[in-house]
Amino acid sequence: MLRDDINIFINGRWTPSADRATRDVVNPATGKIIARVAAGCRADVDAAVSSAKAAFESWSLTTPRERSERMAEFAAKVQAAKEDLIRHEAINGGKPLFGARWEIEDFVVDGLKFFAGAARMIEGIASADYLKGRTSSIRRDPLGVVAGIVPWNYPAELAAWKIGPSVAAGNTIVLKPSEGTPLSALMIADLAAECFPPGVINVVLGDGGEVGGALADHPDVAMISVTGSERTGKEVARRASATLKRVHLELGGNAPVIVFADADLTLLVNTLRMGTYYNAGQDCTAATRIIVHESIHGNFLDAVKSMSESVIVGDPLAPGNEKVEVGPLASAAQRARVAGFVESAKAGGARIITGGSAPDTPGYFYAPTVVDGVSQNDDIVQEEVFGPLMTVQTFTNEDTALLMANGVRQGLAASVWTRDLGRAMRASGWLRFGTVWVNEHLPLVSEMPHGGHKSSGYGRDMSKYVFEEYTNTKHVMIRHGG
Ligand code: NAD
Repeated sequence: MLRDDINIFINGRWTPSADRATRDVVNPATGKIIARVAAGCRADVDAAVSSAKAAFESWSLTTPRERSERMAEFAAKVQAAKEDLIRHEAINGGKPLFGARWEIEDFVVDGLKFFAGAARMIEGIASADYLKGRTSSIRRDPLGVVAGIVPWNYPAELAAWKIGPSVAAGNTIVLKPSEGTPLSALMIADLAAECFPPGVINVVLGDGGEVGGALADHPDVAMISVTGSERTGKEVARRASATLKRVHLELGGNAPVIVFADADLTLLVNTLRMGTYYNAGQDCTAATRIIVHESIHGNFLDAVKSMSESVIVGDPLAPGNEKVEVGPLASAAQRARVAGFVESAKAGGARIITGGSAPDTPGYFYAPTVVDGVSQNDDIVQEEVFGPLMTVQTFTNEDTALLMANGVRQGLAASVWTRDLGRAMRASGWLRFGTVWVNEHLPLVSEMPHGGHKSSGYGRDMSKYVFEEYTNTKHVMIRHGG
């Protein structure tokens, strides 16, 4: 085991959970227990929120420079600890090391550095006399206590995406990691303890319904920011309405990939190696619904079959497995869910081009899978599968392709593959998704907003736009004339 009896982090101290129960944390590549953490309960939420509320009184009065300096120190400490974080993220999330490295370096460390800088750039519009003798100005004030709730697929990255803007804007935060993957967020809290006053950053553990729900209900939480499933987003929004707190939701995706006849097929298929299979497909922006022009359907299937069969699947941390590209799914339940979608597509007449099964090994692995001949209304097209899988549909004209791409509830990310600039511009305008890539799929950057349209939620992570969520505007009018 990595560590035993890990507690929660409240008011700058490690504290036992109020109910003293524990939960085992498992490595999904082996099914073995790697740590035991506090199970967490509702009473912990009360203690964490009260600590965050008390800390807000002074943290909200710090200058942008002070917050920026502390954030920069925090980012440097996280960077110095990155090898340990990478190892925890790999063992707890079943992530290949190259992926854990990418997430820690490019999204956790870079994200925190970005917010260290951005803390000094939060601004309102310039002052002006909109009424004679009265000057109006805009302040952007912090909100208070932010509750950040994160899922299991990017535990450290999403913890940084909630902590960064909260603290940079002068809020305090209570973070709740996912039940199964708390280790990296707890390590991050440990590093934060050395940089921030007690209570600015708190971490509680526990079940979504009980502990997450208590955060949604709590009258002293000013905003709740959730990255998770649609079901959780709806439940949190419903519960949060009782106290009218601000709600920020980053929910599931179901990304279409529109491939026009003039697309560079080699570039596309090489990109799908990561675009579809990165993190075993457990990515809210994963390239899952391939919508390909009829004239290149056969060529595409040949190329994508051969690419999928060359992807290296295995336990990322087993000796000699440095080249593993796809690790296990996060749990037995998640693997059963993916298999269920495939079985029901097969029963509906879909064709498995490759994969479609789980290897007979320990751990929750599933083979990279391509499913052809699906229909728009099939569950495997309409729902977010969250596994190493792509479906393939065909089209003959541009309008149909765009209708198919937009024809799902979700609207997080999409990509368009063409050499025709006009077509790329038209498609990017029509697609109802928060991110549209052209001849690319997957990369995000700290400077650009990330978030959904439609049932993928509302609000944005990252970029300077995030401060529209994490601050309140205030109009101050000063009378200085008659
Ligand atoms: P989930 O919704 O089951 O859980 C996410 C978090 O919410 C966990 O911490 C969980 O404990 C908590 N939770 C569950 N029920 C709750 C409730 N009633 N009240 C408050 N909190 C509750 O999601 P998951 O299965 O852990 O993660 C996968 C989902 O996350 C996928 O749908 C994926 O697309 C989505 N996701 C979205 C983004 C994005 O940026 N839009 C990024 C990553 C993952």
